[in-house]
Amino acid sequence: MDTTTAAGELDAWRDLPAAQQPEWDDPDEVRAVAEELSKAPPLVFAGECDQLKDRLADVVRGEAFVLQGGDCAETFAGSTADAVRNKLKTLLQMAVVLTYAGSVPVVKIGRMAGQFAKPRSKPTETRDGVTLPAYRGDAVNGIEFTPEARRSDPRRLLQAYHCSAVTLNLCRAFTKGGYADLRQVHAWNQDFVAASPAGQRYERLAGEIDRALAFMKACGADPEEFHGVEFYSSHEALLLEYERALTRIDSRSGLPYDVSAHFVWIGERTRQLDGAHVEFASRIRNPIGVKLGPTTTPDDALALIERLNPEGEPGRLTFITRMGAGRIREVLPPLVEKVTQSGAPVAWICDPMHGNTFEAPSGHKTRRFDDVLDEVAGFFEVHRSLGTHPGGIHIEFTGDDVTECVGGGAAIVEDDLHQRYETACDPRLNRSQSLDLAFMVAEMYRDVH
Ligand code: PEP
Ligand code: MN
Repeated sequence: MDTTTAAGELDAWRDLPAAQQPEWDDPDEVRAVAEELSKAPPLVFAGECDQLKDRLADVVRGEAFVLQGGDCAETFAGSTADAVRNKLKTLLQMAVVLTYAGSVPVVKIGRMAGQFAKPRSKPTETRDGVTLPAYRGDAVNGIEFTPEARRSDPRRLLQAYHCSAVTLNLCRAFTKGGYADLRQVHAWNQDFVAASPAGQRYERLAGEIDRALAFMKACGADPEEFHGVEFYSSHEALLLEYERALTRIDSRSGLPYDVSAHFVWIGERTRQLDGAHVEFASRIRNPIGVKLGPTTTPDDALALIERLNPEGEPGRLTFITRMGAGRIREVLPPLVEKVTQSGAPVAWICDPMHGNTFEAPSGHKTRRFDDVLDEVAGFFEVHRSLGTHPGGIHIEFTGDDVTECVGGGAAIVEDDLHQRYETACDPRLNRSQSLDLAFMVAEMYRDVH
């Protein structure tokens, strides 16, 4: 590919309306930051993105299941070894439950190592008569409610890059350096068992896995796959200056990849067909996702496919539906039907979080565990009735014992929310709610297969 043309194509989004971009005071400073980022080492390699695309092609064929999750918004302060390890540990536990109880290969994608920017429903926030710019994620401004913190600061993009690098480095070390070895299934649960019913249930499953491993070893089988896991990073490709600066031409194929993460997605608020985000995503070769909310029409879905995967490459495009528990059974079928009829290869995954948010009387933004579960159940029902593959889940969770969503095995109630409400944006499932969900999803998966 001619590099001049490539650069022109990669910048075509600049001529289109870009929703949800911060208002930066000083364009020169943004340019200087973008310049610096464009010289920074890649966080991921094109070959890894292609490998994930292959895994997602398995999902399209109905042969694998995606587990994608992490914080709604990562924070710089939260990019610590403990927090990252706890999230990863929870993701590994969920994946083991799904793999073993659901008997399906699980594609593990962290909503981690780059999820530092947030779209907002309102550009400003008012407290006690004072109005300031909304918090847009640590990559843009600070969460404290002061004029200084809420100013958009382009230098934060550099810090987002560095925190992504640190987080991804930890994830790579944990998943390749022995920690993710299947013989560690008990160790991941150690600080958890006594405390929770989900932990105890997991412990029993880990015991079964141990016996299976011992059996396989006795038979002389000890495959490489048992000693580490493939882990991929992802975030919403929201801040186009950042994503563009981290887009590189792969020397092997001559094609552009966004090397900020393996997988990036377009949010519900930025998926306009003639908008900058869709244009930008159409140019990069990573596997990509698009969030689809309840107002999506089948024609919207087909048009997105035409723009984002015109050649019908399996694994390139994932639709992440987030309809709400009350709507999914009515709004998902026409989308799946039309897309299936078109023959386009799409992976369908369910985000049971973003259609189920409400405000508790205390003012906390929260979600009911039962609604989350019900949306996933509706997702499975719809795919079962249409003969299509329920390809995965996308969730907001943390490895810590926060009290942000109500319900689950440990039965958190609205009055408990204040106890450990720590999210920088949307409410997350805590560790035991996440494990509860994994067990229930594994059962649903087994039922449809
Ligand atoms: C999110 O994933 O945090 C988000 C804002 O989702 P959506 O774009 O689906 O609203
Ligand atoms: Mn969110």
